Amino acid sequence: MTMIKKAIMIGAGPAGLAAALRLKKASGIDCTIYEIRKKPATIGGAVNIPPNGVRLFNELGLYDALNTRASSASVMTIAPTDKTPLFEYDIGEACKNTTGFGVWRVLRADIIEVLLAAVQHEGIPVVFGKTLTEVLEAPETVKITFDDGTVDSAGILLGCDGIHSSVRKLHVDPVIEPEYSGVSNMFAILPTIALVAPSTTKPAIQMTFISDGLFSVVPCTASGDQLYWVYSRRIEIPGDEDSRDGWEAFGQKAIQELKTGMFDALKDVTGQWGDAIRGLISATDTIKFYPIYKMSPSCRWSTGRCILLGDAAHAMQPHLGQGTSMALEDVFLLSRLLESGPAQLDESFRRYEELRRP
Ligand SMILES: Cc1cc2nc3c(=O)[nH]c(=O)nc-3n(C[C@H](O)[C@H](O)[C@H](O)COP(=O)(O)OP(=O)(O)OC[C@H]3O[C@@H](n4cnc5c(N)ncnc54)[C@H](O)[C@@H]3O)c2cc1C
Repeated sequence: MTMIKKAIMIGAGPAGLAAALRLKKASGIDCTIYEIRKKPATIGGAVNIPPNGVRLFNELGLYDALNTRASSASVMTIAPTDKTPLFEYDIGEACKNTTGFGVWRVLRADIIEVLLAAVQHEGIPVVFGKTLTEVLEAPETVKITFDDGTVDSAGILLGCDGIHSSVRKLHVDPVIEPEYSGVSNMFAILPTIALVAPSTTKPAIQMTFISDGLFSVVPCTASGDQLYWVYSRRIEIPGDEDSRDGWEAFGQKAIQELKTGMFDALKDVTGQWGDAIRGLISATDTIKFYPIYKMSPSCRWSTGRCILLGDAAHAMQPHLGQGTSMALEDVFLLSRLLESGPAQLDESFRRYEELRRP
């Protein structure tokens, strides 16, 4: 067992909030979470939570809170471009039969709201609007500094600050950079009521492979009143500069092309389903563009008193819908190692990497 009395989490996303909740409840460790955003926020959209994630939300005591918000629609349909499904499978039922837990599609905002409420219920401070500038490690402690001059210190620092992690860049592995995966997503949330074609309200996970990508539609609330659609396709990095500005301008152009050229990209999708997809896009006012980055497996994950969790360590492409669940698995393993693992922190970190990297 590692004698840690206080932990700091950088990032109030799924990894940071879940880590604080788990370490406080399982080990009585005092936690403080620092978040760069000024208030709770996400990139928007919804996520798929497979049974490994649902099980860990249950372990956190949040099953009911999320189950009443998430869609549990579980029939997955993979459609070709005409109306006959290539493949139809009750993935939720199959998961329940083998693991005891089904699958959810849930709004990111709902996950954060539920986790945040639980964290606040435990009295764990979440401090918003904090930009990390320095991490300094000593043998018994790690000290952090923010751009407003404030400092804090703890026995362990958890970098839960996502793919563009400052804990990683400032301290754990300053050399490594996330790589663009070559794939970008365009996505939107749409009230079901806005739809022209009623067939898409069928509660199921629908995926269609078109000539240059994947178009997927899923309900993402328990009542089915909101749908999440995502169009995922290969897009070359714009120009030479991989800058945020370049991507923003490029994203706007890609969205415009999708809206004006949607009949082109989707021309092979025929029948009622094709009409439904076109109806979905034309009924959508705001489409978001998200270039997908990933971390190289060679990224360093820890130093003496700092460790990376979730996307900060191992952001992956989203097509298996495992990112959030992988972050939760990180949290539970780290908690177990701190609670009943080796006495030395570096040995716990070594075990964590040994078990998580594969
Ligand atoms: C398009 C897309 C679709 C996806 N679909 C799915 C899916 O279906 N299912 C699924 O499980 N996963 C999906 N993912 C992946 C999933 O979003 C992530 O794996 C998951 O959110 C990781 O959680 P995290 O807490 O590690 O990081 P994040 O969710 O990125 O949270 C990091 C937090 O840290 C904050 N932060 C950043 N920098 C700092 C800093 N310097 N200081 C303080 N705070 C900071 C951020 O504001 C944020 O609140 C998808 C990802 C993308 C991009």
